[in-house]
Amino acid sequence: MTQILPDLDGRLVLPGDAAYDDARQGWNLAVDQRPAAVAAATSVADVQAVVRHARAQGLRVAPQSTGHGAEALDLDALRGAILLKTSGLDAISVDPAARTATVGAGVTAAALADAAAQHGLAPVLGLAPSVGVAGLVLGGGLGWLSRAHGRAADHLLAAEVVTPDGDVVQADDELLFALQGGGGRGVVVTSLTLRLHAVDELFGGMIAWPAERAAEVLEQARRVAIEAPDALSLVVRVIALPPLDVIPAPIRGKRIVAVVAVHAGPRADGERLLAPLRTTHGALIDTYDSIGPADLVRVAGDPDAPGAARGEGLLLADLTPDAVATIAELTADERLSVFEVRQLGGALARTPERSGGLGAVDAPFAFFAGGLADTPQATASVTAALAEIAARLAPHTAPRVLLSNKGGGVDPARGYADGVWDRLRSVRDAHDPDRVVLSHHDG
Ligand SMILES: Cc1cc2nc3c(=O)[nH]c(=O)nc-3n(C[C@H](O)[C@H](O)[C@H](O)COP(=O)(O)OP(=O)(O)OC[C@H]3O[C@@H](n4cnc5c(N)ncnc54)[C@H](O)[C@@H]3O)c2cc1C
Repeated sequence: MTQILPDLDGRLVLPGDAAYDDARQGWNLAVDQRPAAVAAATSVADVQAVVRHARAQGLRVAPQSTGHGAEALDLDALRGAILLKTSGLDAISVDPAARTATVGAGVTAAALADAAAQHGLAPVLGLAPSVGVAGLVLGGGLGWLSRAHGRAADHLLAAEVVTPDGDVVQADDELLFALQGGGGRGVVVTSLTLRLHAVDELFGGMIAWPAERAAEVLEQARRVAIEAPDALSLVVRVIALPPLDVIPAPIRGKRIVAVVAVHAGPRADGERLLAPLRTTHGALIDTYDSIGPADLVRVAGDPDAPGAARGEGLLLADLTPDAVATIAELTADERLSVFEVRQLGGALARTPERSGGLGAVDAPFAFFAGGLADTPQATASVTAALAEIAARLAPHTAPRVLLSNKGGGVDPARGYADGVWDRLRSVRDAHDPDRVVLSHHDG
């Protein structure tokens, strides 16, 4: 049975409806989201109607655009909530003169990158095309331009939100602070205005070797990274690639160690900076080339289709040769299919002018590992492998965490500088004392 709310254009899908199983899915198919109902909003009025209806029924509301962050949702609490899908809020408007974009809460990174690129502009986004701009900005947002320009969240200029009473308001300064990486707890965001950057030249791509070369490649990449200007960003991945036709033949179906890099500046400088990697013998593939602004969300080759996976990230307090050797050893663990060392630093290490609760990140690198979790056995095996990794990397791990690369079960206060979590909670108390809005890392 599908219940139509009187003032809701979209449908409310309930458990037992034929459409329920499709409607409740997040991006990560391993996360079994079973909300009390699912609503798909296509307008701000829909969002207001869902919020008011939920409140009247004693339910919570869990806003979700793509579901990339579903691993960090409290699934028990979700049973008492309407999962509010915002993908239908997909309007994008770019103001090339002001270098800003206003996007609906359902816009994906790819859609915004494409729209901005038409004007030679680029937003700060993450590496994956399919991630939602709203969740990315609300959680921080680290991408290729972050070492030069900071997080996606630092670029948030304005936001329109629906309050738990169902009112539409523009975020004031204190709420804007809480939305800039503070998770968006306590309101449903309907649109965001972001600052864009003019990008003249970009050089980037991937170079890869067989995964057995991980120790050597990681060490070479570490040396390039520590000398790198803010315009250059490196991500090293050890990854088991599926045998799919979309993957270039030299690396298809192989376990590789890859250095994905982007230089936001002249090609000649990018070529010079990356030369030590490109002259390391035996590469299977080298795609470094001039790229356009829309390629920033595609150059890493992140999948554009959902899958069942489980992963965990941590911040590295250091990346000494010793840490590199440990990480290289860990990458031989075939229970996991992806390991990532992502360079931070640059603008991320400085407190930005428009910083929300996240402030500066005092860790030079982030680490992430994950694996296929499509059966209970696979999930158990990946979970055990991740726990072992956390223990092995403990001597190199920073106390703070990036909530955006954590599953559930972490104290959200650890995502912020001292005292900021209390400030975020008081912003939430002011807007949502009854905890109507259910967020990831709800706290
Ligand atoms: C494959 C993959 C690649 C990734 N790559 C990167 C990367 O390169 N850089 C990076 O920084 N992060 C990255 N992430 C992490 C990602 O930024 C977070 O998971 C982010 O929360 C996803 O946002 P979303 O809107 O797509 O997900 P969703 O699951 O839809 O949203 C996540 C949470 O954001 C909040 N939220 C979403 N929409 C609203 C709204 N309208 N109002 C209020 N709250 C809302 C909710 O609490 C929701 O639970 C990646 C994640 C995955 C799975």
